Amino acid sequence: MRTFLYWLVQLTWGIPINIIGAGVAFLLICKGYKPRRFCHAVYFEVGRNWGGVNFGGFFFVQKDATLTLKRHEYGHGFQNMMLGVLMPFLIHIPSAIRYHYRNYKRAKGFNLTPYDAFWCESWATRLGEKHSSRR
Ligand SMILES: [Zn+2]
Repeated sequence: MRTFLYWLVQLTWGIPINIIGAGVAFLLICKGYKPRRFCHAVYFEVGRNWGGVNFGGFFFVQKDATLTLKRHEYGHGFQNMMLGVLMPFLIHIPSAIRYHYRNYKRAKGFNLTPYDAFWCESWATRLGEKHSSRR
């Protein structure tokens, strides 16, 4: 897929989440963080040991993020292209609740199911691998 087409879809059908992504990107640039490129997406490395989050064509990962993590967050960007305006309700809100619930359970000493056991997470991993393995 071409970069133009990617951003066309991100900034039309997928725009709600990209507004947040652009806002966060703007704040980080003001703080001196450098935007980087991953395939068609723009990403930043910030903080340590927290994982990552995707906002459409933008994603944010911990410093020295692995390729696996970057591909996964990139994969969420393709979900945004498919789900568009439904993305916050189907992905972001459930994922945020799950993220905090897992931290709570981990702190209490419970065993956790694998991260990718949640449907939208394994889907994001597959999408990210598919769209970033051929460059
Ligand atoms: Zn994810």
